[in-house]
Amino acid sequence: MFLLPFCIIPYFSLIQVPVICDNFITGHWSIMENSEVDRLTQLLSDAQAVIKHQNSELTGLLESKSQELEEILGNIDQIIWYIDSQTLSLQYVNHAINAVFGFTKEDFLADPTLWQQRIHKDDRLLVRSFFETLLPGASQEICFRIHRANGELCWLNSRVYHNEKLDLFVGITSDITQSKLQSEEIAFLAFYDPLTMLANRSKLKLQLHSKLEHSPLVGFALIYIDLDNFKNINDTMGHEIGDQILIEVARRLRELTNHDQLLSRFGGDEFVVYLNSSDPIYINTFCSQLGEVFKVPFTINDVPFFLSSSFGISMYPEDARSPEDLIKHADTAMHEAKKNGKNQFLYYHSSMQRAIHNFLHVESLIRDALQDDLFTLYFQPLVNAASLTLQGFEALMRLPHPTEGFITPDTFIPVAEKNGDILHIGQIVLEQACDFIEMLRVKHPNPFYVAINVSAKQLHQIDFAHELLDYLKIRAIDPCYLKVELTESAVMDNVEIASRQLHTLKEGGVHIALDDFGTGYSSFAYLAQLPISTLKIDKSFIDTVCEIDSHSHIVKAISNLAHVLGMSVTAEGVETERQFNFLVENHIDTLQGYFLSKPITKEEILYNITTPFFLPEKALLYSI
Ligand code: C2E
Ligand code: CA
Ligand code: CA
Repeated sequence: MFLLPFCIIPYFSLIQVPVICDNFITGHWSIMENSEVDRLTQLLSDAQAVIKHQNSELTGLLESKSQELEEILGNIDQIIWYIDSQTLSLQYVNHAINAVFGFTKEDFLADPTLWQQRIHKDDRLLVRSFFETLLPGASQEICFRIHRANGELCWLNSRVYHNEKLDLFVGITSDITQSKLQSEEIAFLAFYDPLTMLANRSKLKLQLHSKLEHSPLVGFALIYIDLDNFKNINDTMGHEIGDQILIEVARRLRELTNHDQLLSRFGGDEFVVYLNSSDPIYINTFCSQLGEVFKVPFTINDVPFFLSSSFGISMYPEDARSPEDLIKHADTAMHEAKKNGKNQFLYYHSSMQRAIHNFLHVESLIRDALQDDLFTLYFQPLVNAASLTLQGFEALMRLPHPTEGFITPDTFIPVAEKNGDILHIGQIVLEQACDFIEMLRVKHPNPFYVAINVSAKQLHQIDFAHELLDYLKIRAIDPCYLKVELTESAVMDNVEIASRQLHTLKEGGVHIALDDFGTGYSSFAYLAQLPISTLKIDKSFIDTVCEIDSHSHIVKAISNLAHVLGMSVTAEGVETERQFNFLVENHIDTLQGYFLSKPITKEEILYNITTPFFLPEKALLYSI
């Protein structure tokens, strides 16, 4: 009897076996001849040879196919794998795993649990429950972190299919570290300030909204912090130094705040602190500590910078109920603190809001005036005290508004300085002053000059002086007919820029007067260096020059100082004869004030220019 391997039965059935089978089935054995046995043996061995050959061909084919497949899978960036659905041990993986994990495919196949050991410990539970809950026949995605062979953290995204028939989880996995980092960076930038790493405006607002939602009954305070005169540092020392100072400010503020408070940077030199308390004693103490932070100089590249800061405080729920309004009110209070002289803190008050409404109203009036060409220069005579003759005029801007009436510069100039409209207004002043100079020159041979007021913002425009001189050239007006009046504070705000502008003007032939002298804090060292031709003593000293001794001393001292420095001196706001006499006696060079003439229109001046137009009793003296 032949024990045939199972695999050859089909082949065997093709050859002559019916006789044997029949016999086998019926249980009867027939005796075959030897020759027949040999033939069958031969047939069998032939068949075995054929089968062996075909087997090896098939194996070869299979091997080459699996190599082909391996090559195709090997060139795919994604990891293709399958794991046992019970033990989660790895059964197959392509070569892509090498690049992602830093281990070879062979390492993983040798230790089928190696892939699990590389999962970040915080994500292991997530991965386990993912496989536990992936239903047979279903496919789903999962993101988790692994450690590469070098320890680096890597984000993976896998789509996994649960193959029920083969009891496998089959998956395809990509390395998404790069895009994850990018989206994390975007998310970071959405809520944090990249320079100081502090929370930004959005983050603070988000926190405030959440706080109001969850504990609307608990009061808190917001402190709006703005560095004083930081712009000067940026302008003169450059943004890099400015940035380093901001980083140091952030560091110091961070040291001061605890986990109950939230410190954020709103951009530029503005920071906002959320205080989880509405107790004024606590808030005052905190603000004093904030002030202390700025007392120590900020040393950058061995250069000390002395800074101060102004703070505005708004309180929840007293001042407002929405985060936006609370921030706005703290900002308003901070601006008031600046107006009050900087380096201090102020609590918000509803009257401040009124000031803002006024500001917006005046802003709209300025817009109307610019659009409808309403701004008109008035001119106030400047009289030589010794000869009592007319010397020139100060140009003063007026806004005759059709519905609001006559608006004085004290109302619109501060607003225009703040919103930048002063640059436009300044150009109108220059044009109208030049028109006036031309008219005077036609009417009268005397070289009367016109003094225009220039604000700090204009002066700090980099091309201010050159543009002014160019304009005079275009108008063919000799610069000696123009004088520029600048306040002490406009010059001292940024002495370096101011000094450059003043020298350019001086070299161009324009005279310069320092306005409101005595109210600011001029350094005498600068005063001597700057090309200033006139000091204008502030009206507040003239008002009481005959009543308050110290004021009369100040006026005399300023007069002496000006003369020692080779400057002339003007007194403004001369309203009475007593003041007039005092000033003449004390060698003030030029006088200006209602006692002599109020500011008037150019038409009035042109009409009067051939006839006396000052005080009737002194008419002859002032006649030109
Ligand atoms: P300022 O430059 O100190 O001008 C002198 C101010 O004193 C003027 O007020 C003038 O009308 C007023 N004044 C002159 N004499 C007397 C007097 O005897 N008694 C009284 N009570 N006042 C007198 P005004 O025209 O209202 O201007 C106020 C301020 O507005 C000016 O002070 C100046 O700083 C600013 N300003 C006016 N026009 C311009 C301008 O065109 N550009 C700029 N940037 N500022 C201007
Ligand atoms: Ca002036
Ligand atoms: Ca003045």
